Amino acid sequence: MEASVAERWAAVQERIARAARRAGRDPAEVTVVAVTKTVPPERIVEAYACGLRIFGENRVEEAEEKIPQVHARLGSEAQVHWHLVGHLQRRKARRALGLFEVIHSVDSLPLAEKLSRLAVESGRVVEILLECNVSGEATKYGFPLHRWEEDPGQREAFMEAVARILDLPGLRVSGLMTVAPVASDPETVRPVFRRLRALRDFLAERFPRASWAHLSMGMTDDFEVAIEEGATMIRLGRAIFGERPVR
Ligand SMILES: *Cc1c(COP(=O)(O)O)cnc(C)c1O
Repeated sequence: MEASVAERWAAVQERIARAARRAGRDPAEVTVVAVTKTVPPERIVEAYACGLRIFGENRVEEAEEKIPQVHARLGSEAQVHWHLVGHLQRRKARRALGLFEVIHSVDSLPLAEKLSRLAVESGRVVEILLECNVSGEATKYGFPLHRWEEDPGQREAFMEAVARILDLPGLRVSGLMTVAPVASDPETVRPVFRRLRALRDFLAERFPRASWAHLSMGMTDDFEVAIEEGATMIRLGRAIFGERPVR
């Protein structure tokens, strides 16, 4: 029989606690974003009943359809926080702002500028993370940073973008996000997480006016390694909801 969300969630919490302890960290430092792409509203309600409060979607269209359905089921008192974890096209920025509190996937200056303009227009501040491609995989979104340590050109191009983004009104930059390559052995992606943290430490020194508190890294196949390397937000889909239907 399929495991329930409650059973999966209990197992995940145990694994998070163990990984945190191995690294000498408090498990409470690790926020779980339950990634609900392809998950129907009733399963999201089940996750809410288990105590999960932060949900992540990767597509604006799917979120637009599903979020109201979830809220209709939970009622107006529910405390739900929606994060966008997938790539955002500039032309969908307005719709994304209407749906999400945190956008993990800001990967260009023009996108940040558009979000800033729209946030100011609607009188709010939106929390963003900067998505970084530190692995060099061509299929990944994110600021190109696979050679940031050894290539001053690549590094400084990013620093310049960051300086501009930090000057934009309506945005609160709170850290970095990355999607690691798919690997059968999570140990092989440890260096990816380690490099994102090193980049964060570099930015924190260079731009102390932003918080840089968050490292959004780690998914179902590699979250324990990500926690050992300093993740503060892990994005879990299958670990909580089971395998997704094949597209
Ligand atoms: C789907 C997705 C996740 C969750 O993936 P799992 O492997 O199911 O945990 C995390 N982050 C992003 C950006 C995703 O698109």
